[in-house]
Amino acid sequence: MKRAAVLAFYRLCRALGLFRLARRLTRSHLRILCYHGFVLDDEDRFRESLFVSRDFLERRMRYLADEGFQVLTLDEALVRLREGTLPSDCVTITIDDGFHSVHAVAREVLEGHGFPSTLYLTSYYFEKGTPIFQLAVDYMCWKSKQQTVDLSRLGIPALASECALELTSEKRRWVSETVHAYGTEHLGEEGRVALSRRLAACLDVDYERIAESRILSLITPDELKELEASGMAIELHTHRHRFPNEAEAAASELADNRAAIEPLLGRRMAHFCYPSGKWSPDHQPVLAADGIASATTCESGLAHAGSNLLALPRFLDDNRVSQVEFEAELTGFSELCRKALGRA
Ligand SMILES: [Zn+2]
Repeated sequence: MKRAAVLAFYRLCRALGLFRLARRLTRSHLRILCYHGFVLDDEDRFRESLFVSRDFLERRMRYLADEGFQVLTLDEALVRLREGTLPSDCVTITIDDGFHSVHAVAREVLEGHGFPSTLYLTSYYFEKGTPIFQLAVDYMCWKSKQQTVDLSRLGIPALASECALELTSEKRRWVSETVHAYGTEHLGEEGRVALSRRLAACLDVDYERIAESRILSLITPDELKELEASGMAIELHTHRHRFPNEAEAAASELADNRAAIEPLLGRRMAHFCYPSGKWSPDHQPVLAADGIASATTCESGLAHAGSNLLALPRFLDDNRVSQVEFEAELTGFSELCRKALGRA
């Protein structure tokens, strides 16, 4: 079905009271919401799937409050889900990665509603304090107003002959991928920052502004403590935002993630989120051996008493999701449709 038709179908079903009915039918299920970053500048125009505005988040949270959804911590929700004592219409809010804007924007909105949440923090850039290299490179390639650029002195062999490259959208993507691959393979973080600065000069983009505004940086240790104090539980998301299938490498991602965060928290983290939602059954023995109580994916669905706690579904909410689609997910209507279509 085309998107316009889906939206019209949802609106009709909502008007007919089917959303209310779906909510009653799925009231014992747990809805796990997922967000990433929040807008401080123009990040939502750069990545609409990654950054939502304060108003956007406020609208969604107000809907939860006005419609009487109960927002629980992930920990409590999962214990009660297993025990069969989950209250009706339960929601858990999760946020991935740990962008600075979680502290600058989301904290206040969630606190305003008294909603607890979980922040899955990836720790490499949390320790470094520099903008996330891949995102900064992508952002600069997107942001540049130059028509033609000279990349011959960037220090990257694959770009050495590009002294008058026309910046079409395809070429912007290619430059970004080439710079990212080179920085990842050949440089340490200091070298990557220097490369980012050289690229910024070539593209006529202000790298210092990106670094100072922290639009692509993660929270600081002080911000982490303030977030925990405000009701946001910090949990695991790997150190380098990758979770290899190979058991030893996966275990060391968890160990490095713990080592970077737990001394600041003074407690052991027990919940995990697969980076980029990529998960496989091979991961589960590693998570179980590490004592992980739950792991969330990016697959849509509602969690129920029989759900695999190491592959919990979530609903990714972002700018591409209209209000009626959000309501369809929250009421369980979408889930019932998916099940009906799956059976058909
Ligand atoms: Zn992530």
